[in-house]
Amino acid sequence: MKAITKRSWAEPYKMKMVELLKMTTRQQRLKAIKDAGFNTFLLNSEDVYIDLLTDSGTNSMSDRQWSAFMTGDEAYAGSKSYFILEETIQKYYGYKYVVPTHQGRAAENILSQILIKKGDIVPGNMYFTTTRLHQELAGGTFVDVIIDEAHDPLNEHPFKGNVDIVKLEKLVKKHGAKKIPYVCVATNVNMAGGQPVSMANLKELRAFTKKHGIRIIHDMTRVAENAYFIQQREKGYEKKSIQQIVKEICSYTDGATMSAKKDALVNIGGFMAINDWDVFEEARNLVVVYEGLHTYGGLAGRDMEAIAVGIVESLDDNHQRARVGQVLYLGQKMLEYNIPIVKPIGGHGIFVDAKAFLPQLSQDQFPAQTLAAELYIDSGVRTMERGIVSAGRKPNGENYYPKLELVRFTIPRRVYTQAHMDVIAESAAAVYDKRKSIKGLKMVYEPKYLRFFQARFERLK
Ligand SMILES: *Cc1c(COP(=O)(O)O)cnc(C)c1O
Repeated sequence: MKAITKRSWAEPYKMKMVELLKMTTRQQRLKAIKDAGFNTFLLNSEDVYIDLLTDSGTNSMSDRQWSAFMTGDEAYAGSKSYFILEETIQKYYGYKYVVPTHQGRAAENILSQILIKKGDIVPGNMYFTTTRLHQELAGGTFVDVIIDEAHDPLNEHPFKGNVDIVKLEKLVKKHGAKKIPYVCVATNVNMAGGQPVSMANLKELRAFTKKHGIRIIHDMTRVAENAYFIQQREKGYEKKSIQQIVKEICSYTDGATMSAKKDALVNIGGFMAINDWDVFEEARNLVVVYEGLHTYGGLAGRDMEAIAVGIVESLDDNHQRARVGQVLYLGQKMLEYNIPIVKPIGGHGIFVDAKAFLPQLSQDQFPAQTLAAELYIDSGVRTMERGIVSAGRKPNGENYYPKLELVRFTIPRRVYTQAHMDVIAESAAAVYDKRKSIKGLKMVYEPKYLRFFQARFERLK
């Protein structure tokens, strides 16, 4: 008999219903990826075994959320479900005014149009695709002010999402505070690999922006995952609950955009929140143009009910421990196979360093796009590119050449089991074993906006 040396944890939920998956052969997958132009976004989800394309809108809702669906008030105006959502956001995040939207980018559109004037500079802790595009469409220029460590996949800084205040100070000196409508701060920075911002950094940023009269707008899409890392890593927060930490994070910002499809555990939804009445007034007007009346903003009453319940569930300490714990489990497995991944392991997925995985490919041969296609062919696991294809082109038409060329294995919340994580890690290891024989891709179709969604590729001979 072996003595017990460890005690495992498990998910704080059990399954009441299951969704059956189609199993495919290698031959079928090869045909499917060719038909999809070697772009995993263009695969039929039916042909996918384990879907790690995104954690956006792919979460499992709880029995309580499904029950809340039934109590949704579908009135066109003044829906009770809106007031429940508003009250939940006020209580747990602390923002004063709320405008629901159909998802995060709709909130970004409205907020960018209100706050950004032509020629403005919008600093942020690394770009996000839709966020930057809305800033640019409103006439602004995004400037990255994340700390340098975030661009180094091997650097193990515990808070790689932090804003570099010196970079920000230089921007203010160069352009003047009047040209900077707000600093956009994302929590648990998606494009850096799900890396957190520290509370100390947020406090420092608040003091700096206050001095210059600049707002902070919070991209709070993954605020609860960020709070978990603060609880685990930042002195003074070990004993605080996720709920307390999230409220404190929000208190250092003036407003927020939220994609509820991530942290808030729903399949669709988002909102804009703001403490400034005047901005709220304008947002309430604009939302009618793009989304719907300000008490539903493109959502059904039942959606708002499910978001309200999801927000509360996302702030449960046991939920976050299991959520991030599953991601850490997969990351550890990959490290055991020597697969080059971004470290520290992030909150919502594993980011494989495709430049290190396929060093024989130049960035113009799309190493991350290539690797994502190879993984699909190997096992039916669907991942996605976060590199030169996602980065797109500058307003002047030149390609962005991001330092990071990553394949993202994003884990939906409460959807897959630990056994699925084993299958994923083993598939990545199998592709790693034959990495030397892998050739790159060439782009044969490029859409104008957010090209990664619909671009098509062919294999290089
Ligand atoms: C997903 C996401 C958005 C956009 O939200 P959508 O709901 O997809 O429109 C904005 N910022 C971040 C960091 C995101 O991850």
